[in-house]
Amino acid sequence: MMLSMVFAPIVGVALTQVAVLATSIYLHRALAHRALRVHPAADVLFRTVLWLTTGQQRHEWVAVHRKHHAFTDRTGDPHSPRLLGVWRVLLLNVYYYAREARNPETLRVFASDIPRDRLDRRVFRHGWIGLGLGIALLCALLGPWAGLFAAALHALLYVFVVAPLINGVGHWRGSQNFDNTAYNSRVLAWLTGGESLHNNHHAHARSPKFSVRRFEFDPSWVMIRALKALGLVTLLRPPARLPLDMQEYRQPQGVL
Ligand SMILES: [Zn+2]
Ligand SMILES: [Zn+2]
Repeated sequence: MMLSMVFAPIVGVALTQVAVLATSIYLHRALAHRALRVHPAADVLFRTVLWLTTGQQRHEWVAVHRKHHAFTDRTGDPHSPRLLGVWRVLLLNVYYYAREARNPETLRVFASDIPRDRLDRRVFRHGWIGLGLGIALLCALLGPWAGLFAAALHALLYVFVVAPLINGVGHWRGSQNFDNTAYNSRVLAWLTGGESLHNNHHAHARSPKFSVRRFEFDPSWVMIRALKALGLVTLLRPPARLPLDMQEYRQPQGVL
Protein backbone atom coordinates (compact mmCIF):
# COMPACT_ATOMS: atom_id res chain seq x y z
CA MET A 1 0.00 0.00 0.00
CA MET A 2 2.70 2.48 1.06
CA LEU A 3 4.95 1.52 -1.84
CA SER A 4 2.19 1.88 -4.43
CA MET A 5 1.31 5.34 -3.05
CA VAL A 6 4.95 6.30 -3.66
CA PHE A 7 4.73 5.02 -7.25
CA ALA A 8 1.30 6.54 -7.96
CA PRO A 9 2.53 10.08 -8.79
CA ILE A 10 5.28 8.66 -11.02
CA VAL A 11 2.74 6.48 -12.84
CA GLY A 12 0.37 9.47 -13.21
CA VAL A 13 3.08 11.65 -14.78
CA ALA A 14 4.33 8.80 -16.99
CA LEU A 15 0.78 8.11 -18.24
CA THR A 16 0.38 11.78 -19.13
CA GLN A 17 3.58 11.65 -21.17
CA VAL A 18 2.38 8.50 -22.97
CA ALA A 19 -0.96 10.18 -23.78
CA VAL A 20 0.77 13.42 -24.86
CA LEU A 21 3.16 11.58 -27.21
CA ALA A 22 0.30 9.50 -28.68
CA THR A 23 -1.75 12.67 -29.21
CA SER A 24 1.13 14.53 -30.85
CA ILE A 25 2.38 11.69 -33.05
CA TYR A 26 -0.86 9.95 -34.00
CA LEU A 27 -3.76 12.42 -33.73
CA HIS A 28 -1.80 15.54 -34.63
CA ARG A 29 1.07 14.70 -36.99
CA ALA A 30 -0.25 11.50 -38.62
CA LEU A 31 -4.02 12.08 -38.86
CA ALA A 32 -4.63 15.84 -38.73
CA HIS A 33 -1.65 16.88 -40.90
CA ARG A 34 -0.76 13.69 -42.80
CA ALA A 35 2.95 14.13 -42.07
CA LEU A 36 3.32 10.40 -41.28
CA ARG A 37 1.79 7.12 -42.33
CA VAL A 38 1.24 4.72 -39.44
CA HIS A 39 1.54 0.92 -39.83
CA PRO A 40 -1.84 -0.79 -39.16
CA ALA A 41 -0.46 -2.52 -36.02
CA ALA A 42 0.81 0.78 -34.61
CA ASP A 43 -2.49 2.41 -35.61
CA VAL A 44 -4.44 0.01 -33.38
CA LEU A 45 -1.87 0.42 -30.60
CA PHE A 46 -2.10 4.25 -30.69
CA ARG A 47 -5.90 4.10 -30.70
CA THR A 48 -5.93 1.67 -27.79
CA VAL A 49 -3.53 3.82 -25.75
CA LEU A 50 -5.62 6.94 -26.43
CA TRP A 51 -8.86 5.08 -25.65
CA LEU A 52 -7.55 3.89 -22.28
CA THR A 53 -5.85 7.17 -21.30
CA THR A 54 -8.15 9.85 -22.79
CA GLY A 55 -11.33 8.32 -24.25
CA GLN A 56 -11.07 10.84 -27.12
CA GLN A 57 -12.62 10.28 -30.55
CA ARG A 58 -9.98 10.63 -33.24
CA HIS A 59 -12.24 12.30 -35.85
CA GLU A 60 -13.33 14.89 -33.28
CA TRP A 61 -9.75 15.77 -32.30
CA VAL A 62 -8.74 16.06 -35.96
CA ALA A 63 -11.75 18.25 -36.85
CA VAL A 64 -11.25 20.70 -33.96
CA HIS A 65 -7.54 20.97 -34.67
CA ARG A 66 -7.89 21.47 -38.42
CA LYS A 67 -10.46 24.19 -37.75
CA HIS A 68 -7.89 25.86 -35.47
CA HIS A 69 -5.42 25.92 -38.38
CA ALA A 70 -8.06 27.12 -40.85
CA PHE A 71 -9.10 30.07 -38.65
CA THR A 72 -5.99 30.64 -36.52
CA ASP A 73 -6.59 33.57 -34.14
CA ARG A 74 -9.57 34.88 -36.06
CA THR A 75 -13.32 34.34 -35.80
CA GLY A 76 -13.94 30.60 -36.00
CA ASP A 77 -10.78 29.54 -34.10
CA PRO A 78 -12.11 27.17 -31.39
CA HIS A 79 -9.59 28.20 -28.71
CA SER A 80 -7.75 31.42 -29.52
CA PRO A 81 -6.39 33.35 -26.51
CA ARG A 82 -6.34 36.47 -28.70
CA LEU A 83 -10.12 36.24 -29.12
CA LEU A 84 -11.11 34.72 -25.76
CA GLY A 85 -8.37 35.97 -23.43
CA VAL A 86 -5.53 33.76 -22.26
CA TRP A 87 -7.05 32.89 -18.86
CA ARG A 88 -10.25 31.59 -20.42
CA VAL A 89 -8.24 29.26 -22.69
CA LEU A 90 -5.97 28.20 -19.82
CA LEU A 91 -8.88 27.41 -17.48
CA LEU A 92 -11.66 26.38 -19.88
CA ASN A 93 -9.77 24.74 -22.76
CA VAL A 94 -11.66 21.47 -22.23
CA TYR A 95 -15.00 23.31 -22.53
CA TYR A 96 -14.01 25.02 -25.79
CA TYR A 97 -12.74 21.70 -27.17
CA ALA A 98 -15.91 19.80 -26.23
CA ARG A 99 -18.14 22.56 -27.63
CA GLU A 100 -16.43 22.42 -31.03
CA ALA A 101 -16.17 18.59 -31.03
CA ARG A 102 -19.98 18.42 -30.72
CA ASN A 103 -20.54 20.69 -33.73
CA PRO A 104 -21.65 18.37 -36.57
CA GLU A 105 -20.73 20.99 -39.18
CA THR A 106 -17.13 21.10 -37.88
CA LEU A 107 -16.90 17.29 -38.07
CA ARG A 108 -18.36 17.22 -41.59
CA VAL A 109 -16.13 19.96 -43.01
CA PHE A 110 -12.85 19.10 -41.29
CA ALA A 111 -12.81 15.33 -40.67
CA SER A 112 -14.88 13.66 -43.38
CA ASP A 113 -11.71 11.82 -44.50
CA ILE A 114 -11.24 10.15 -41.09
CA PRO A 115 -13.16 6.89 -41.34
CA ARG A 116 -15.43 5.57 -38.59
CA ASP A 117 -14.31 1.96 -39.07
CA ARG A 118 -15.51 -1.22 -37.39
CA LEU A 119 -13.09 -0.79 -34.45
CA ASP A 120 -14.46 2.71 -33.87
CA ARG A 121 -18.07 1.55 -34.02
CA ARG A 122 -17.56 -1.48 -31.78
CA VAL A 123 -14.86 -0.31 -29.35
CA PHE A 124 -13.29 3.14 -29.53
CA ARG A 125 -16.60 5.02 -29.89
CA HIS A 126 -17.25 4.16 -26.25
CA GLY A 127 -14.77 6.61 -24.72
CA TRP A 128 -16.07 6.29 -21.17
CA ILE A 129 -15.65 2.50 -21.28
CA GLY A 130 -12.01 3.02 -22.33
CA LEU A 131 -11.41 5.42 -19.49
CA GLY A 132 -13.16 3.10 -17.02
CA LEU A 133 -11.05 0.19 -18.19
CA GLY A 134 -7.88 2.27 -17.90
CA ILE A 135 -8.75 3.24 -14.33
CA ALA A 136 -9.64 -0.39 -13.47
CA LEU A 137 -6.24 -1.53 -14.82
CA LEU A 138 -4.45 1.07 -12.70
CA CYS A 139 -6.39 -0.02 -9.60
CA ALA A 140 -5.55 -3.66 -10.30
CA LEU A 141 -1.85 -2.80 -10.66
CA LEU A 142 -1.43 -0.30 -7.83
CA GLY A 143 -4.35 -1.01 -5.50
CA PRO A 144 -7.58 1.03 -5.45
CA TRP A 145 -6.44 4.28 -3.79
CA ALA A 146 -3.08 4.52 -5.52
CA GLY A 147 -4.73 3.60 -8.85
CA LEU A 148 -7.40 6.29 -8.45
CA PHE A 149 -4.75 8.83 -7.45
CA ALA A 150 -2.58 8.05 -10.51
CA ALA A 151 -5.65 8.28 -12.80
CA ALA A 152 -6.78 11.58 -11.25
CA LEU A 153 -3.29 13.09 -11.50
CA HIS A 154 -3.01 12.04 -15.15
CA ALA A 155 -6.46 13.47 -15.98
CA LEU A 156 -5.62 16.73 -14.23
CA LEU A 157 -2.26 17.09 -16.02
CA TYR A 158 -3.54 16.13 -19.48
CA VAL A 159 -6.81 18.09 -19.46
CA PHE A 160 -6.02 21.08 -17.25
CA VAL A 161 -2.26 21.59 -17.64
CA VAL A 162 -0.70 20.27 -20.86
CA ALA A 163 -3.51 20.92 -23.38
CA PRO A 164 -4.23 24.47 -22.07
CA LEU A 165 -0.50 25.29 -22.07
CA ILE A 166 -0.23 24.25 -25.73
CA ASN A 167 -3.36 26.11 -26.89
CA GLY A 168 -3.12 29.07 -24.49
CA VAL A 169 0.58 29.92 -24.13
CA GLY A 170 1.28 28.73 -27.70
CA HIS A 171 -0.73 31.67 -29.04
CA TRP A 172 0.11 34.17 -26.33
CA ARG A 173 3.79 34.46 -25.32
CA GLY A 174 7.15 32.99 -26.29
CA SER A 175 9.79 33.20 -28.98
CA GLN A 176 9.34 33.19 -32.73
CA ASN A 177 11.37 31.88 -35.65
CA PHE A 178 8.68 32.54 -38.23
CA ASP A 179 6.16 35.26 -38.96
CA ASN A 180 2.83 33.95 -37.65
CA THR A 181 0.63 34.40 -34.55
CA ALA A 182 1.98 31.35 -32.66
CA TYR A 183 4.93 31.20 -30.25
CA ASN A 184 7.60 28.69 -29.27
CA SER A 185 8.50 27.73 -25.72
CA ARG A 186 11.63 25.58 -25.65
CA VAL A 187 11.04 24.82 -21.94
CA LEU A 188 7.38 23.76 -22.26
CA ALA A 189 8.20 21.68 -25.36
CA TRP A 190 9.95 19.14 -23.12
CA LEU A 191 6.64 18.53 -21.30
CA THR A 192 4.27 18.76 -24.27
CA GLY A 193 5.80 16.26 -26.68
CA GLY A 194 7.28 19.12 -28.72
CA GLU A 195 3.88 20.74 -29.25
CA SER A 196 5.02 23.99 -27.64
CA LEU A 197 7.33 24.63 -30.59
CA HIS A 198 4.08 26.02 -31.87
CA ASN A 199 5.44 28.88 -33.97
CA ASN A 200 7.50 26.37 -35.96
CA HIS A 201 4.45 24.14 -36.32
CA HIS A 202 2.20 26.87 -37.70
CA ALA A 203 4.92 27.82 -40.20
CA HIS A 204 5.39 24.20 -41.36
CA ALA A 205 2.16 22.42 -40.39
CA ARG A 206 2.92 19.30 -42.43
CA SER A 207 6.42 18.75 -41.08
CA PRO A 208 6.75 15.57 -38.96
CA LYS A 209 9.38 17.35 -36.83
CA PHE A 210 8.60 20.49 -34.83
CA SER A 211 12.12 21.60 -33.83
CA VAL A 212 14.24 23.56 -36.32
CA ARG A 213 17.08 24.97 -34.18
CA ARG A 214 19.84 23.19 -32.30
CA PHE A 215 18.56 24.08 -28.84
CA GLU A 216 14.95 23.23 -29.57
CA PHE A 217 13.97 19.71 -28.47
CA ASP A 218 10.98 17.80 -29.84
CA PRO A 219 10.45 14.60 -27.76
CA SER A 220 7.91 13.23 -30.24
CA TRP A 221 10.53 13.34 -32.98
CA VAL A 222 12.76 10.99 -30.95
CA MET A 223 9.84 8.56 -30.68
CA ILE A 224 8.99 8.96 -34.39
CA ARG A 225 12.57 8.07 -35.34
CA ALA A 226 12.41 4.96 -33.12
CA LEU A 227 9.06 3.93 -34.67
CA LYS A 228 10.50 4.58 -38.14
CA ALA A 229 13.50 2.34 -37.39
CA LEU A 230 11.02 -0.41 -36.41
CA GLY A 231 9.07 0.09 -39.65
CA LEU A 232 5.99 1.29 -37.74
CA VAL A 233 5.78 4.77 -39.27
CA THR A 234 6.74 6.25 -42.66
CA LEU A 235 7.51 9.94 -43.14
CA LEU A 236 5.29 11.45 -45.83
CA ARG A 237 7.05 14.83 -45.68
CA PRO A 238 10.65 15.82 -45.00
CA PRO A 239 11.35 17.53 -41.65
CA ALA A 240 11.11 21.33 -41.87
CA ARG A 241 14.40 23.23 -41.98
CA LEU A 242 15.26 26.82 -41.27
CA PRO A 243 15.84 28.93 -44.40
CA LEU A 244 19.58 29.26 -45.11
CA ASP A 245 19.68 32.93 -44.14
CA MET A 246 18.28 32.05 -40.66
CA GLN A 247 20.64 29.17 -39.85
CA GLU A 248 23.25 31.42 -38.28
CA TYR A 249 22.21 31.43 -34.61
CA ARG A 250 20.50 34.54 -33.38
CA GLN A 251 18.34 34.97 -30.31
CA PRO A 252 14.72 34.38 -31.35
CA GLN A 253 12.32 37.17 -30.47
CA GLY A 254 10.38 36.77 -27.24
CA VAL A 255 10.73 35.79 -23.62
CA LEU A 256 10.19 32.05 -23.09
ZN1 LIG B 1 -2.00 26.79 -32.90
ZN1 LIG C 1 -1.43 21.34 -36.11
